[in-house]
Amino acid sequence: MRILVTGGAGFIGSHLCERLLGEGHDVLCLDNFFTGAKRNIDHLLDHHGFELIRHDIIEPILLEVDRIYNLACPASPVHYQYNPVKTTKTSVMGTINMLGLAKRVRARILQASTSEVYGDPEVHPQTEAYWGNVNPIGLRSCYDEGKRVAETLMMDYHRQNGVDIRIVRIFNTYGPRMAVNDGRVVSNFVVQALRNDDLTVYGAGEQTRSFCFIDDLVEGLVRMMECDGFIGPVNLGNPVETPIIEFARRIVELTGSRSEIVYRPLPADDPKQRQPDISLARQKLGWEPRVPLEEGLRRTIADFAARLSAGRS
Ligand code: NAD
Ligand code: UDP
Repeated sequence: MRILVTGGAGFIGSHLCERLLGEGHDVLCLDNFFTGAKRNIDHLLDHHGFELIRHDIIEPILLEVDRIYNLACPASPVHYQYNPVKTTKTSVMGTINMLGLAKRVRARILQASTSEVYGDPEVHPQTEAYWGNVNPIGLRSCYDEGKRVAETLMMDYHRQNGVDIRIVRIFNTYGPRMAVNDGRVVSNFVVQALRNDDLTVYGAGEQTRSFCFIDDLVEGLVRMMECDGFIGPVNLGNPVETPIIEFARRIVELTGSRSEIVYRPLPADDPKQRQPDISLARQKLGWEPRVPLEEGLRRTIADFAARLSAGRS
């Protein structure tokens, strides 16, 4: 198949492109390089099935493709709050453009939604049936509400125009190639630990997250895209939940670092707890994460260590 991956030069997108090329597909990687980087896909450029398109999805584009993975959108709070209006435009106008393309060329389209559609959840763990608790006017809203509208657009293009859609709600994902400077907890703690700098825990560190290794996530994305008769939304994440303070201690231990843990103010609207209920993914896709946190973190730490010592970000 010819497969378009928007945001293909980003963290998740680059791993997905690699996987799809490995399966023998032709891959069109589309990116505006806001948070993505050419070095993420350097190793794919010589592959005969790979094409790179510099483009911003808030502008329409016409391509002949069979599948569209719509991943384009900054994912870390530091990046999506840098230009919040643009973040909303990417999710709203970008998704409209990709849905218009899917409709025109009759491609199947998968939208990368997020656990953030649940906001600061009052239901725990979060099932797909939960409608969420999202602040519409806060600093995270450009991302959360943008992604919620993107889900609405997907459903309405499906109901109104018969577009073949898939929606996945991705929970915190980590692994090699995460940007060193993206401000997310995994990259911050690993970089701080490797440099023997203080680890910055926001608040008391009692808030929880559930971390999924990239290879597991990519497997879930592909299974959902190719699953017949199920459009989602479906949660994809690792249900093992960890308080952030414990996560910090784990990283200090795994890196053998001399870093201390320090406490910084908790950002506004920071969700207190997050854990996916993945019963639906298990049932419909036969999917569940396989890589334990310790193994995934060792692989991630090794990748960051190599990049830092080579002076690459
Ligand atoms: P990332 O920032 O590494 O990748 C996003 C990519 O999209 C980058 O390459 C960026 O340059 C590109 N991009 C941004 N705006 C664009 C635009 N207007 N036009 C074209 N390209 C654009 O982030 P990621 O972690 O790889 O996330 C990928 C997707 O998965 C995002 O949609 C994100 O919301 C979703 N997601 C990620 C996580 C996670 O934990 N990583 C969790 C939930 C959802
Ligand atoms: N966090 C932290 N220190 C950091 C970066 C993040 O304690 O240096 C916390 C953050 O407040 C949040 C959790 O770690 O509670 C996950 O943050 P991230 O930005 O990675 O993802 P999200 O909040 O979007 O799930």
